[in-house]
This record gives sequence, C-alpha cells and structure tokens, in this order.
Amino acid sequence: MDLSIVVPSYNEEESLPLLLEWIERVVVAEGLEHEVIIVDDGSSDGSWSVIETLANRYTGIVRGVRFRRNYGKSAALNVGFQRAQGDVVITMDADMQDSPDEIPELVRMIREEHYDLVSGWKKVRHDPLSKTLPSKLFNATTRKISGIKLHDFNCGLKAYRSEVIKTVEVYGEMHRYIPLLAKEAGFKHIGEKVVTHYERKYGVSKFGIERTIKGFLDLLSVSFMAKFGKRPMHFFGALGTLMFIVGFIAALWLGAKKMWYVYNGLSMVLLTDTPHFYIALTCMILGTQLFLTGFLAELVCRNSTERNKYLIKVEI
Ligand code: UDP
Ligand code: MG
Repeated sequence: MDLSIVVPSYNEEESLPLLLEWIERVVVAEGLEHEVIIVDDGSSDGSWSVIETLANRYTGIVRGVRFRRNYGKSAALNVGFQRAQGDVVITMDADMQDSPDEIPELVRMIREEHYDLVSGWKKVRHDPLSKTLPSKLFNATTRKISGIKLHDFNCGLKAYRSEVIKTVEVYGEMHRYIPLLAKEAGFKHIGEKVVTHYERKYGVSKFGIERTIKGFLDLLSVSFMAKFGKRPMHFFGALGTLMFIVGFIAALWLGAKKMWYVYNGLSMVLLTDTPHFYIALTCMILGTQLFLTGFLAELVCRNSTERNKYLIKVEI
C-alpha cells in the first residue's frame, strides 16, 4: 500500500465527514492506494457512530479504532502507527486545521527526496496569541537542545517513511518530540514543508496553556534519555563525584585550619558555628546521594529488555 493516513480524534464529530471527503478528493486524484486510520481517543460525543458510517461509506479505506477512555494524542498516534500498512505514513489532526491538499507534496518528498520524516510548518498560523507565543519559545528551545532545524515541532501534519514509525515508540505526551525520537533512532534526514493552516471551525481545542510546562519537562526527559538513557552513571556519577570532592576539600581545609589555630594557641569559633561547615557537609551528603542514584539507575538499566537493542540498517 502506498499511503496510510493516521488521524487522532477526540470529540471531532462535525469535522470527520468533511475531512474524509476532502482527503478522498485529493488522494484519489493522485491515484494513491491508501487507507485512513481514525483513532477515536475515547470521545464522549457521537464520533464513533460517525466513524462507523464513514467505514461503511469508504469500505476498505477507512478503519476505526476506539479507545475505552481518553488516553491522549500520543497514545492515539501510537496505535495508529502500529496498524499502518502504507509505505508512507501521514498524520493529520481531525479538526480540519491541517489541509489534505498538502498530502501529494509530502508523499513526493518522502518518495523522491528520500526524507525519513517531513514536518509541516504552520508559517501563517490561525490560532490565538496565547498559543502562538509560547509555541515560538517552545520551538526555539527545542531547536537549540535537539539541534534539529525545524520551525514547528508540534505540527500535527507530518509524513514519515514507514520504517520510522515502526521503529519509534510514541509514549506519554511525546507526540511533540517525534522528530527528536526519530533522530535519536538514527533517522537523520528530516525535512520541513510550509503548510496551510486553517482556523478551527467546529469543536474546541483540546490543549491549554499547561502544554507549555508539560512540553518543557518532556523536552528535558527526551534529551536526558537520548544522552544518558543507557549510561546514567556517567551523569550522576560525574555530578556526585564533583560535589563530594568540593565538600571533602572544604571540610579538610576547615579541619586543618582549626588544628592550626589550636596548635598555635589561638582562639577560633566552633566549626559548627560557621556556615562553611554546613555547606561542606551538605555537598558531601548530596554527592553521595547522587552517586547512589547513579548505581540504582544502572541497576534499572541492566534489567531493561532494551539494553542491547540496536537498530540495524543493513546486513549482508
Ligand atoms: N486529540 C486526541 N486526544 C486528545 C487530545 C487531542 O486525539 O486527548 C486530537 C484532536 O482531536 C485533534 C488533534 O489531537 O485531532 C490536535 O488537537 P487540537 O486541535 O485540540 O490541538 P491544537 O490544534 O489546539 O494544537
Ligand atoms: Mg487543532
């Protein structure tokens, strides 16, 4: 099959039929053999019956998966990815903010320009300022930390070579960082395409301002895992050693100084009455704890089934 279109959908009953009509118009004109996988993420409106109707109308094309409850966009994408059979996989929001007109060019970029992943870029964006401003900050930070030159990491419209989505596992709320996960897995040919973005006509946005803080925490996790996920001791051990040495030297210095004073019969305040003593002590305790954390993290890694999982590209 040429193309799978994965649509995560949460309470989007009005948009779905229109979206499908539009997708069909574009994709059929291109003559692409395709499927559309709609993942109903525990909707509480009439979405599922709409999906059933669509599956009947477009037999063999529309497939539906219904979650028992709302798990989030990443979960919906993950399940869609598992089921996708196309050589090219495109993800698209269900709310008709993303344009199906972009599909042919995205498919061409993957097929002919051999991109692993092409991300949409909502250059002109029809969302309130409360959304676009944090998004700018989010993208700048992610660009800096990841080293991937994308303008719009969180764009719902993306295209992948099948191998990418079968390799990368989207979990938690990591749908914002699929390009990072892909890069980490060795898919480095990542491209970008400016896409048209529409205003939301039906339903409401499912993400509020809290996405910024969640996104930031996830960014820290992703970049930490990418670097030290398989060797946590290198992180905790280095930090722990540094802290312990600082504390130990400070304590040694304080002790030596005290002895020198005593030896020369000079008077000096009690060490326990000086702040330096407590700072030195705290450094040594923190250093030890970081070290222990490192050992514990190594134990956890040792038990991981993925500790020896390598992604092999070719073998002869
Ligand atoms: N979505 C989902 N599960 C959720 C939240 C959102 O499947 O828990 C879907 C939603 O139906 C839409 C897409 O994810 O198709 C993007 O959501 P939304 O349009 O609310 O995000 P925004 O455009 O505001 O960034
Ligand atoms: Mg939207």
